Amino acid sequence: MEFKAGVSVSNDVVSNSNCYSNSNSSTISCIALSHYPSPPDISALTRLSDNLESILDSADFDFFADAKIVVNTGREVPVHRCILSARSSFFKNVFSAKDIGSGSAVRFELKELAKEYDVGLDSLLAVLGYLYSGKLRSLPKGVCACVDDACAHVSCRPVVDFIVEVLYASATFEISELVSLYQRHLLDILEKVCIDDILVVLYVANMCGKACERLVGRCVEIIVKSDADVVTLEKALPQHTVKLITDSRLALGLDRPQCNTSVSHFPDKHTKRIHRALDSDDVELVRMLLKEAHANLDDAYALHYAVAYCDAKTTTELLDLGLADVNCRNLRGYTVLHVAAMRKEPKIIVSLLTKGARPSDLTLDGRKAIQITKRLTRAADFFKSNDEGKSSSNDRLCIEILEQAERRDPLLGEASLSLAMAGDDLRMKLLYLENRVGLAKYLFPMEAKVVMDISQIDGASEFPIGGISSKDLASSKRTTVDLNEAPFKIKEEHLLRLQALSRTVELGKRFFPRCSEVLNKIMDGDDISQLAYTGDDTPELRLWKRRRYMELQEVLSKAFNEDKEEFDRSAMSSSSSSTSIGVVRSNGKLTLNQ
Ligand SMILES: [Zn+2]
Repeated sequence: MEFKAGVSVSNDVVSNSNCYSNSNSSTISCIALSHYPSPPDISALTRLSDNLESILDSADFDFFADAKIVVNTGREVPVHRCILSARSSFFKNVFSAKDIGSGSAVRFELKELAKEYDVGLDSLLAVLGYLYSGKLRSLPKGVCACVDDACAHVSCRPVVDFIVEVLYASATFEISELVSLYQRHLLDILEKVCIDDILVVLYVANMCGKACERLVGRCVEIIVKSDADVVTLEKALPQHTVKLITDSRLALGLDRPQCNTSVSHFPDKHTKRIHRALDSDDVELVRMLLKEAHANLDDAYALHYAVAYCDAKTTTELLDLGLADVNCRNLRGYTVLHVAAMRKEPKIIVSLLTKGARPSDLTLDGRKAIQITKRLTRAADFFKSNDEGKSSSNDRLCIEILEQAERRDPLLGEASLSLAMAGDDLRMKLLYLENRVGLAKYLFPMEAKVVMDISQIDGASEFPIGGISSKDLASSKRTTVDLNEAPFKIKEEHLLRLQALSRTVELGKRFFPRCSEVLNKIMDGDDISQLAYTGDDTPELRLWKRRRYMELQEVLSKAFNEDKEEFDRSAMSSSSSSTSIGVVRSNGKLTLNQ
């Protein structure tokens, strides 16, 4: 994980420099001087470099900072204009502009400095670290690692993302020696980088101008010989680069245009029309085009296309047509689920799994969907959300869903609750489900959103749940008109709502058993159903609810902190959470029958 390349303290020569290994750090420093420095010189330079580096790293020097660089998360990095100006002509120009103001309040948005490509905090710190100390820092741990245990983290996506960001920032800030070092590092690992990630490298290298010509050339060479199809290339790269690649393929005899067996896989005109309709999320038009052209969705890889590039809703609608094979492979050997795993959109993954997509299918090079997602996910992000008990990130949800799908029989089909209940039982059931889903929205907002969108719960109007404290239920006190009026009549909208709610709960149990366990515990409690009621509470009641809510939060963060191994071990015994919801006790206590 280290750079083998040398670093120059002066801006002049990298190639003529002499390298000395710094015994205290994993970074190798090179010093370019007109004569070989004697040992005292080296220790003096090392001390100088360390001192300068501490200006950036230690908060003691923030007092002397005269500008701030603001990254996209809103975090501010204090910097010293005179150091940056001395080291980079780009910063010299920016800081010498007349209208930037003065004092420590001078703020520069990184987005405005870097313009065309997002540069994150870690990449910025890597560049600043070099500017302050003249030393190259080793790749930051966590940032340059994915969450696949089997990965050596040499060429996975988090590594590639970090290096291209530093490369881009160095090119933009006109730090030529840093550009050549990071370019060299990318060239070293490029053979091991997967094709879809090389597209990212090429995209960025293209923006870095002449300094990155070698990298551009090498990426193009690899992509020309790869199985990347024209549609993929057009979505990832500028038009002139796509043309360069397809022209090279033609010249090498790898391609015949408009031919389905060619490497590029040029789409025919029907396929192009279907893709265009999908681009505008017009599934109805897709249906018409299919009729008209006697084509089918699988030949056009329409589902692959929608999953990769369209709104999650479009995928669901396309799946609902029932015309596409959810396990179909495209010409690169990817199933739709593989593509969804690359996109990392939990809603799409869940809707594919509920339609029978197989999580165990392998890509041509032997990867499952879960491995694809894991190699794309930064360890730092993944474990951060776990530790802090914050709401889960999309990446985390995707991994959890795919892991869960592999444990269970993936062909369960669409779960449904038996509706063979009537009268009061149905009412209680509605209350239970409404409460449970309401609570889930509070406690697990992201997970709840995923399953609620899939079960299209928003289409079914909410059941009025005012006054459903257990006390009220027990004494049959009439507090709201619709709900507690006897006899309770089942209406069509109740059934629709019941269906949507039970589907939401079933999906939740299937894909997020961790959350379901917590909800089970809470829903079995005597007092808890009162928490969801938000009517005219007395101040004392509100205070009590607040306290109870805090207690719940504790239960929650505990659940979040259950580490992954614990989760894996319990997977074998978690089948109890798949039990469908049963009856409600007659004393009005809402509970589960397992
Ligand atoms: Zn990795």
